[in-house]
Amino acid sequence: MFKEAIEAAKLIKNAFDTAEKLKDDIDRLKELGESNMKAMELAQIAINLQNLVFSLQRNLWTLETNHRSLEDKIRQYETFEVEKDKYAPHQCASGAVVYRPIQPIHDAEGNVIVHYLCANCYEQHKKSILQPGEIVDSHRTLKCHCCSSVVLYERIECLVETIGSRHAIDWSDY
Ligand SMILES: [Zn+2]
Repeated sequence: MFKEAIEAAKLIKNAFDTAEKLKDDIDRLKELGESNMKAMELAQIAINLQNLVFSLQRNLWTLETNHRSLEDKIRQYETFEVEKDKYAPHQCASGAVVYRPIQPIHDAEGNVIVHYLCANCYEQHKKSILQPGEIVDSHRTLKCHCCSSVVLYERIECLVETIGSRHAIDWSDY
């Protein structure tokens, strides 16, 4: 009987010990759960911060690019301010308006350099010298390689006559 009582007491103690251990385990699990949640929260915050840093880097890069482009524009405006007073509007025979130098400009050998500026680019504070282009509608053209404008410069009379007479011959054959 006494032995049985000791055994029962042992069982009860074991049960208590087991229950105590189980409680410890549950608490530990809870702690782990909480710390895992914290770790996840921290990881999320780290990701958010990383995204913020990337976004700020992108903004900084855009600002730097804009800043450089504005500096270039200011430099271009300043250069143009010096140049623009040397030119005045000029109407070509075709009626198109370009800008040409007020005073003749010479090359190293003293020859006059005949050149015109694109009116479209001039309005945008850009100096763009027009270059000879293709023949369009029996006109010599000047082309702006900056804005792709094409200016009808002058009519080619003899070419028109040649084409006209060629047509006349062609038609007379019929
Ligand atoms: Zn132009």
